[in-house]
Amino acid sequence: MSDSVKIIFTGTGSGRSSLNRFHSSFLIRSDSYNLLVDAGDGISRALLRLGIDFNEIDGVFITHLHPDHYSGFPSLILQMKMSSRRMPLELYTSKGNGNFIKELLNRSYLLEKRLPFQLNFMKVEKGSRIDFRGKFSITPYENSHLEKYREYGVKSSELKSYSMIIATPRGEVFYSGDVGSVNDFSFYKFGENSILVTETTHVSIEAVIELIQQNDLKKVILTHIESDDPSPLISKISSVYPDGLNKITVAHDGLMLTL
Ligand SMILES: [Zn+2]
Ligand SMILES: [Zn+2]
Repeated sequence: MSDSVKIIFTGTGSGRSSLNRFHSSFLIRSDSYNLLVDAGDGISRALLRLGIDFNEIDGVFITHLHPDHYSGFPSLILQMKMSSRRMPLELYTSKGNGNFIKELLNRSYLLEKRLPFQLNFMKVEKGSRIDFRGKFSITPYENSHLEKYREYGVKSSELKSYSMIIATPRGEVFYSGDVGSVNDFSFYKFGENSILVTETTHVSIEAVIELIQQNDLKKVILTHIESDDPSPLISKISSVYPDGLNKITVAHDGLMLTL
């Protein structure tokens, strides 16, 4: 039995489809619960490529309903069905998102009654810690990523997008999720050993660097990356903040972070 928790980056791309990066997602792996965070287009192939068994996943957390974060979910359920999964699967997302996904599965003929396993829709509330068998926990926070749709009459309940704190006995990660602006980082109090995992599509690298300097962060992982080639991002970091490359890792699919 090991107490270590690993974060495996199953995808590090943005909303743009790429042959070298799957859409942004990661697996939090412990010896008694494995949680997949996000399941965009191609998630099943991303898992296959890394040799991650579909049935090793105990739960899926969907941060928000942009296609690069959820649209592979029905197909993942189909893979689980075809591999005769028996173990229940937990789905964590907002109530409104859960209802939409329920409808999506039904309309995709993945009828609950025909699945060989139970799919449990779990409650997610902002600021409310979710414990995963004492191995790690997640505390989701709502961010402003989807606020731009409000002016089109989209209801508040349909604008849920989450950042989260991932806590383990050995360390803590703040995961930005997709953000609206740099203000979405401000509620989190970075500790001395906090690790930051942040997207880099909706927030500039300059803003991330400022955050690193202000909070004296020692370890930062960049994901949700626009381009296949990490070198433009790396050269930008080294020109703005040469010391930054000792602290910042530009993630690639398959990268593993051990906590
Ligand atoms: Zn995204
Ligand atoms: Zn998004």
